[in-house]
Amino acid sequence: MKKLRAKAEKLANSIIKLYPCVKCGNPNVDPAHLYQHAAATVTDLRCIVPLCRKHHNELDQGKDGKYKFRELILGDLEFEMLLRTNTPTKVDWSERVEFLKDVHDRIKEGELTLEEARSYET
Ligand SMILES: [Zn+2]
Repeated sequence: MKKLRAKAEKLANSIIKLYPCVKCGNPNVDPAHLYQHAAATVTDLRCIVPLCRKHHNELDQGKDGKYKFRELILGDLEFEMLLRTNTPTKVDWSERVEFLKDVHDRIKEGELTLEEARSYET
């Protein structure tokens, strides 16, 4: 199911790319994954943040304090997400592809915001 995972990752990234950098508003973003690429969180929209290349680099270098930065974005979700990252989770990639496709289309149609889509993640 490698193909489906790749498809889900691509969709998640294209959803995030619909938004500008959260730090400076630059529309050219390189989606930043807050928990590397663990299966449980790699396409979780709460764990991917729109950042321009400059701010993505700063995050990677810990310039802004990686932990503080995550906390700012995820708030109380931080602990729960870390647990998920460290727990081997079986992901239904075809389900993820369907979910992300729907989210992508609805955001593009203006029917949904990223904030709302994130609230659908469990
Ligand atoms: Zn930026």
